Amino acid sequence: MNNPCGQHQHPHRLIQQPLDELTDRLRRHSRRVTGPRQAILDVLRRHQTPMSNRDIHAALGQGCDLATVYRNLHTLEGVGLVRRFDLGDGAARFELVTPEDDGHHHHLVCTRCSLVVEIDDCFPPEFEQSLAQRHRFARISHRLEFFGVCSRCEAGESRPGPVEA
Ligand SMILES: [Zn+2]
Ligand SMILES: [Zn+2]
Ligand SMILES: [Zn+2]
Repeated sequence: MNNPCGQHQHPHRLIQQPLDELTDRLRRHSRRVTGPRQAILDVLRRHQTPMSNRDIHAALGQGCDLATVYRNLHTLEGVGLVRRFDLGDGAARFELVTPEDDGHHHHLVCTRCSLVVEIDDCFPPEFEQSLAQRHRFARISHRLEFFGVCSRCEAGESRPGPVEA
């Protein structure tokens, strides 16, 4: 794991969601709380930055194969407990969505070591409104991630490379 929790800059996401609240939300969506689902939720709530299938699989250790991780992430995404992010390296990353938050935010990603910083800033709503008016669109949304080289990589203190080899 190359994203220590200390790097996380999202104050409200620093609060770990209790596991029983997460499993309650799953039940409310009429989804069974299976062993793998509970284990995946537990791994995600302990990690404050997005994790790939393989990160989650590695954190779970034995007893849960990659296909099971993949299938259950899909279920969790479908009921809105987990959000998928594409950080441009071909590996989808997953994060928990808090109940009071729609999960909308952005990331700053180091292209050398895959460090992910959570970004709170977003466009002012007027920007989407003007796009909607100009092009006669409704319900505009956006996805956006930022890329760069982190200070450690820039200083040559590179950490191990991206997890997705
Ligand atoms: Zn870096
Ligand atoms: Zn995030
Ligand atoms: Zn945004």
